Amino acid sequence: MSEYRQRGGAGSGDGATPSLPLSAGIGSNLQRPGGPRFRSSQDNRATPSTPAGPPGTAPAAASASARTTLPTKQHIRCYECGYEFNLTGRMSTTHCPKCRAALDLAGYTIDADCRETLKTLGKIKITARGVVASAQLLGTDVDLAGKVTDSSVEATRELTLFPGAEFTRGNFKAPDIKLLAGGEITFQSPALYRNVDVAGVLNAQLYATGVVTIRAGARFTGSIRGGRLVVEDGAVLDATLNISPDGLDEAEQMKATMTGAAPGAGERIVVKPVAEPAPAS
Ligand SMILES: [Zn+2]
Repeated sequence: MSEYRQRGGAGSGDGATPSLPLSAGIGSNLQRPGGPRFRSSQDNRATPSTPAGPPGTAPAAASASARTTLPTKQHIRCYECGYEFNLTGRMSTTHCPKCRAALDLAGYTIDADCRETLKTLGKIKITARGVVASAQLLGTDVDLAGKVTDSSVEATRELTLFPGAEFTRGNFKAPDIKLLAGGEITFQSPALYRNVDVAGVLNAQLYATGVVTIRAGARFTGSIRGGRLVVEDGAVLDATLNISPDGLDEAEQMKATMTGAAPGAGERIVVKPVAEPAPAS
């Protein structure tokens, strides 16, 4: 039994169909990236106050009053054919002008067992109660506080890891990764990402083709090879560093050699809760 709880409330459909019912108004009530990123996973304030209307209900009024709304203009990359285009207006679905595929723009919260295929250009949140198994998920950003096994999960932009999250490295694809405060991860084999944002505790042999940011109160141990590093005041950094054109070159080479199974593909990662994150000042 799958339980996708869309913004707008639970129970829009009895789950009898494999396709996800999209009721009108959903898109207007999404929590957008850039929301309260450092809130804990059980914080559910993004749930809209307006009840979900039946399909066909005009979403306009809800959109106008929603606290967070879709941007009126957004750049879209079709997840079926890769075609890129701009979309103006608020909506929860559209069609690719090239391949005509129906594209989902809504955000989803997975709050229970999930064993299905879900593709969206919105954000997918897997809460601490979410258990994803034998599923295929694709979203622009993925928030992971729950557990993922035997699944393929792809964030085309950023994966955000909450304390308590569990996943297998090879099953998860994301160019950017963010580790929130209160979580600790050890990557046993080298890790390659574009941008890495650490507010928790990370132990890794890290290759980064973008920017590595170690936040105040965060702790990083291991090594970093890449071109750009930001260390906030109050961060702990105990690592071998090569932040230079050479370091970036190493990261780019690592990326180029990563075909097929990435190193550590079978590695099970548990984001251990840290008892007390270091004071941020
Ligand atoms: Zn397309």
